[in-house]
Amino acid sequence: MNMLGKVISLMGAIVFAFTLGVIGGSAHADESRVIAIVNGMLLDGYEANPIHDSVVIIKGNKILQAGHKSDVKIPKGAHIIDASGKTVMPGLIDLHGHLELLGHGNYKEYYKFINGTSRLDEMRRIASRQLLRAGVTSFVDLGSTPGILKTKKDINEGKIPGPRLIVSGPWITRLPVNIVPAEMAHVVSSTKEARMKTIENIEAGYDIIKAWEGLTQADYNAIVEEAHKRGVKVHAHLYHPDKIDMALNAGVDVLQHMGSAKNPPYSQELLSRVAHSHKPVIQTVAHRIWIYPATVAFPARLQDSRLKETLPKKLYEEFQRSFKNFHRKPYFRNVELEIKNAKIASRQFIEAGALIGVGTDGGSPMNFHTESMWREMGALVDSGMSPIAVLSAATKTNGEVLGKMKLLGGKRQLGTIEPGMLADIIIVDGDPRYSMSILNKPDLVIKDGVPWYTADNETPLLKKIGRKF
Ligand SMILES: [Zn+2]
Repeated sequence: MNMLGKVISLMGAIVFAFTLGVIGGSAHADESRVIAIVNGMLLDGYEANPIHDSVVIIKGNKILQAGHKSDVKIPKGAHIIDASGKTVMPGLIDLHGHLELLGHGNYKEYYKFINGTSRLDEMRRIASRQLLRAGVTSFVDLGSTPGILKTKKDINEGKIPGPRLIVSGPWITRLPVNIVPAEMAHVVSSTKEARMKTIENIEAGYDIIKAWEGLTQADYNAIVEEAHKRGVKVHAHLYHPDKIDMALNAGVDVLQHMGSAKNPPYSQELLSRVAHSHKPVIQTVAHRIWIYPATVAFPARLQDSRLKETLPKKLYEEFQRSFKNFHRKPYFRNVELEIKNAKIASRQFIEAGALIGVGTDGGSPMNFHTESMWREMGALVDSGMSPIAVLSAATKTNGEVLGKMKLLGGKRQLGTIEPGMLADIIIVDGDPRYSMSILNKPDLVIKDGVPWYTADNETPLLKKIGRKF
């Protein structure tokens, strides 16, 4: 580059930095900036004992070092964040949710109230903020309208707070869905069409493919074939044993919903096949089945202050209206049977030794992004996993699932706190191994090396190096 080129490029950089300044700071941390998180109990994402009196060094958006304070030297000039009395752990990864839904009691009435698709950009922004505040630093969206690509871009450019998004866009199905906008699904009537829509989605820029309902063996085969040819992973929505067999035959990458009790318990043969396939099982077991009794026991959870804070007043009131007599809502039609089945089904995959990841179906009725992760994690503990195994599943295992994607470099970059990983870290008040509800309101969320804080925990340091959400 000649001198003039250098000057122009420098000017460009200044203009670029200034633009980011106007919209509230960069999405990415300054590459040379060093942060040291000191004195916390470190759960590094592995199923291992914690490291007490830990030091975690972040440089730019990467983790430089992590260990006991006697093993880690704090570089000169580092910004110090004191985590005394708290737990430091990887940011949570949700492998199944819906950014366009916020937990309203009835899908049809929700879309009617927000006037179809016209306010979905605003809804996605609200959900993104709720998720990041809940410590979710990466989020897989499995079903949305095409507008989600804009939200993803806005988050990446630092225009709005939100987790790192991995999105499927419209799902592929043979079964029409009339309760969500038509743009959310590609309803196909032939294998040829399923193949075409798979290619179309990938070319439109979606990261993954979601195979939904009513598909044939040939459909699954075609979808997986086209997706894999282009280095894209396929997530399948699965309940019935026959469909699970088809999905495994075709080589689907991630098995969604299995164990969440829409059907009776599975046969040992199928469980063994799933476990041996080593394909991640994302149960989404808390939605309906854990959330329903939790709401019967404590209806006040529907008026959580974070909902009031993040939803416009009229929308909040509409949500409250939608929760009246929630036991009569179509979504909870079979909930008693599902609760009974889930007691067995959710344990089955765990006991069979399947690879368990964590996803929430967040956004479904009464399943708010503000708390869906810890509720799902608590449900997995209730179903027989040890708390440390669940913590590791929601971070390291989920990071491995994402790491297999070409998009993220084909190797795991997330989910553990160790040198070289992206600096996605949360600090929580207490020990989540004793109760996942400790994760309810993280003290601090660091995504890509940038600390995010609320008005409640603003400090001069955070004001200087962080961003408010
Ligand atoms: Zn879903």
